[in-house]
Amino acid sequence: MSEAALIDGKASAERLRARVAEVAAGFESAAGRKAGLAVVLVGEDPASQVYVRSKGKQTVAAGMASFEHKLPADTPEAELLALVARLNADPAVDGILVQLPLPAHIDETKVIATIDPNKDVDGLTPVSSGRLALGLPGLVPCTPLGCVMLLKENRGDLTGLDAVVIGRSILVGKPVVQLLLQENCTVTVAHSRTRDLPAVVRRADIVVAAVGRPEMVRGDWIKPGATVIDVGINRVPAAEDGRTRLVGDVALAEARAVASAITPVPGGVGPMTIAVLLRNTIVAAHRNAGIELADGAL
Ligand code: NDP
Repeated sequence: MSEAALIDGKASAERLRARVAEVAAGFESAAGRKAGLAVVLVGEDPASQVYVRSKGKQTVAAGMASFEHKLPADTPEAELLALVARLNADPAVDGILVQLPLPAHIDETKVIATIDPNKDVDGLTPVSSGRLALGLPGLVPCTPLGCVMLLKENRGDLTGLDAVVIGRSILVGKPVVQLLLQENCTVTVAHSRTRDLPAVVRRADIVVAAVGRPEMVRGDWIKPGATVIDVGINRVPAAEDGRTRLVGDVALAEARAVASAITPVPGGVGPMTIAVLLRNTIVAAHRNAGIELADGAL
């Protein structure tokens, strides 16, 4: 059997960003203003700073307005809640993203629940999760939607396929499960207490790994011809010079020998996350402004 195709998340993300930019230009002429995304960063976590900078840049590149709010690490919770309330009320802001993780003295759940669900472009509020579980329209978490977009691009209709999702976090695993159910997959959710994980994974036409354990999923766990979506981002020491490199939750070379297609790390799921954030922002902008968005535009 030939080697699995690598699913090019960078190229898919670029295409999605181009579609968003087109829709954003149409929104600007219809609404008389740009769609706007507010990103809130508390503290100086280096990885979060990189993400926030990148989100701001890509928002502007897509023809939308970016509002960055950087608060010191010791910001009281009440002050952050007050900022979210101001952003909820600001008509120039269509989407609000509070960069996680927040410092330990702030209750993340409380802050997220304060975001207006109509501006919840990260899809993490209880209302958004409820809408997703009920199959109602709403804003869906970015990385999970990116995974399912890649799957549909790669396999077309997913109806009837056996999918195994490894991981049940609120951020990734659970929303992926809901989205795959909506695509009519037969979904199994595996986690740290799952018995005989390799045997469970071997049943899957689609494997989504969102665990956070470097190269845990081995080649001989994969059913021949399966499509593998590797969400994991793990930094491990590179053998040669002590520097670090990124690997996924799946042993890529081994899995490539068996699967039909697989997302590499980096360059697979990762680039989709911000592109979907921009997509969610322009979707929210249309809904909030009462402007119809053509079906299938995004
Ligand atoms: P969490 O740590 O919140 O969840 C990990 C999940 O994996 C849990 O459900 C846990 O099970 C399960 N798990 C842990 N160990 C095992 C094991 N040995 N066997 C089976 N399941 C196991 O992580 P996230 O969901 O937030 O993220 C997962 C990965 O995805 C991370 O590497 C993260 O960096 C990456 N990520 C990538 C993004 C991107 O843009 N590409 C965005 C978000 C995350 P249990 O519930 O039983 O504890």
